[in-house]
Amino acid sequence: MTQAPGLSGARMLLKRLRNVMARGGAAQMRLDQTVKLIAAEMVAEVCSIYLLRAGEVLELFATEGLKKEAVHKTRLRVGEGLVGDIASHARPLALADAQHHPQFAYRPETGEEIFQSLMGVPILRAGRVIGVLVIQNRTRRQYSEEEIETLETVAMVLSELAAGGELVSQEELRPGDGIAVLPLRLDGVTFCPGLAKGIAVLHQATLQLQQLVAEDPEREAERLTGALEELHSSIDRLLDAGDLGGQGEHFEVLETYRLFAQDQGWRSRMLEAVQSGLTAEAAVQKVQNDTRARMRDVSDPYLRERLSDLDDLANRLLRHLLGADAPGARRLPEEAIVVARSMGPAELLDYDRTRLKGLVLEEGSQNAHVAIVARALDIPVIGRCADLMEKVGEGDPLVIDGDNEQLFIRPSDDILQTFAESMRQRVEKRAAFAALRDLPAVTLDGVQVDLHINAGLLMDLPQIAATGAAGIGLYRTEIPFMVSHEYPEVARQTEIYRKVLDGAGNRPVIFRTLDIGSDKVLPYWNRAPEENPAMGWRAIRIALDRPAMLRQQLRAMLNAADGRRLSIMFPMVTEIAEFDACRRLLELELTRRRQQGRTMPEPLLVGAMVEVPALLWQLPELLARVDFLSVGSNDLQQFLFAADRDNPAAAGRYDTLSPAMIRVLEDVARAASAAGKPFGLCGEMAGDPVAAMALLCLGYRSLSMSPPRVLPMRAAIRNLNFGRLQAYWQAVRHLDGATLRGALLDYALDHYVPL
Ligand code: PEP
Ligand code: MG
Repeated sequence: MTQAPGLSGARMLLKRLRNVMARGGAAQMRLDQTVKLIAAEMVAEVCSIYLLRAGEVLELFATEGLKKEAVHKTRLRVGEGLVGDIASHARPLALADAQHHPQFAYRPETGEEIFQSLMGVPILRAGRVIGVLVIQNRTRRQYSEEEIETLETVAMVLSELAAGGELVSQEELRPGDGIAVLPLRLDGVTFCPGLAKGIAVLHQATLQLQQLVAEDPEREAERLTGALEELHSSIDRLLDAGDLGGQGEHFEVLETYRLFAQDQGWRSRMLEAVQSGLTAEAAVQKVQNDTRARMRDVSDPYLRERLSDLDDLANRLLRHLLGADAPGARRLPEEAIVVARSMGPAELLDYDRTRLKGLVLEEGSQNAHVAIVARALDIPVIGRCADLMEKVGEGDPLVIDGDNEQLFIRPSDDILQTFAESMRQRVEKRAAFAALRDLPAVTLDGVQVDLHINAGLLMDLPQIAATGAAGIGLYRTEIPFMVSHEYPEVARQTEIYRKVLDGAGNRPVIFRTLDIGSDKVLPYWNRAPEENPAMGWRAIRIALDRPAMLRQQLRAMLNAADGRRLSIMFPMVTEIAEFDACRRLLELELTRRRQQGRTMPEPLLVGAMVEVPALLWQLPELLARVDFLSVGSNDLQQFLFAADRDNPAAAGRYDTLSPAMIRVLEDVARAASAAGKPFGLCGEMAGDPVAAMALLCLGYRSLSMSPPRVLPMRAAIRNLNFGRLQAYWQAVRHLDGATLRGALLDYALDHYVPL
């Protein structure tokens, strides 16, 4: 009987295989050695490798056991014969009696008629079939599950060699219609919510340069200057097209981009490179390479954004020099999803907006310039999808599920059906939610909850009306600072805050003073790197060390309010003395204003965020000083559990509804209620209906959340009977366990609370 390789045999096979791979030499030679090795180790008389070639053809590339003259001659269409069947279904096949299988296709040149059994597995690369690995035996052999697995593992290792481009060019490996390509799901981060379905359009920014060295530097300098002029006017045309609508930070971002295009430093570095003997194109690329090298070293996401603007500009300039079209100038499929490693903001605008349905990025961040522009275009964006460019091919069908931070590549029929169903439900839900917009957020038994939005961009303002929110519970003032190309002076700040107050109408707005530091870095501000920036020099720690900055901000807020209601909140307060110091700076500004005879805000409310656990033991003193408190549950949780909020491995371990967090939230609520001071919560948990149920029971009546959460939260609250929930809460709240989420979820499901 034929012997299967045991577990250690399989390991040994892989080890030997790795040695063959590592040895170097021509890929074909390594392939020949590989089939020999696999045949011996798998105790098979035959081992063959078929690779996919253009036209959906599987070609025999190497064999041990079949006739050598068949190599590079035997070809099967995908779907033809057993090998073609494995490729078309992307699944293994193990047959003791292969010859009598209806799919068996006899090829006389191989001499395979003497082999009865066959086991084959697809060679996959990023979910696509790029070949088939087969072993055959003369006798009837029942291949075991373990053997199939071993062959699949071997095929995985082989895929590296096969996809290396030496055997079959990368172009040939592109998928076509008949080949089975496995559906894939990639997790990412939603930069712009929503659902989209479309065809992948790969954003290829790289251009091939033919001529690198120039004869006549003066002529190259002229070409470069000419191309720069063309670049400037083309950017002006693009940005002044005026079809983005409204106002907002995307204009700021695009203006910055326009300014960068005129940067003298960039221009002179390129001219210098031309003087050293490079062609204009090569000079642009040299400076671009330097920028990219800097990008690799820069971890600061905002500085990276600026460098990526420069990268984008360099591509544009190169295209002007080469007379090449922009990647976005292509004709798009009717529903297109652009796929890119990273992208500049203007590059996205090159694409036909009527056909652009979504964007997926391998890199990027929430505040990436391209994400801000995409938000203005209102298309869903998912970023930080690892290995995206490797896994998506041009023309692949894609589904973006922004709600669940997922991208589906080549989705299966059931995913497409689910997508269609989600779209339908979404439309229905939107209509149902929209109907709730003007109804109060009040429980069935009359408990009223104020639902506010968290905002930071001017483009968030229309969300107040769209969601019927009670106001802005947290206006993150650092966001406009982060998207600006220079530090905004008092006049600019005043203008922004005035627009916010005007946009909110007579609904209250809580302005939080600058919470920079940690992951929020200002591009125009060089700071020394910190080991632990989240616990370092940030928020009011910076403000108190640089009081002029805080005073300017407070002055701008007072100017913007111009006699209206003004609520100011200080972030990251850790000690009472810090709050007092912030307040003193505010007093100085108020005095100055009074002396100038200018209008004073009415009323003026000053509050603090509860984000640092140290405050929990200073609540009475703090409450004696503030007009209101707002719990920043994101940071509070991070510091309470010593778990980085941006690190899923750490943050995911602890739930917002854990007993410790519940007690802390309860302490704040009790102390604030006893002091008669308004309090609320503005971290992410405020937008989670299950967490909100707990918050309601703890006494919270004011929640501030990201805008898309407001209407679902209103629906949940309107379906709750607070009295019953409270009774249930009393029964479960002291139960042992890591979190109360399960218990509250059960309640919600039992009582038809929409989640
Ligand atoms: C928080 O920490 O919960 C909060 C609302 O502030 P940010 O998320 O801006 O740090
Ligand atoms: Mg915070």
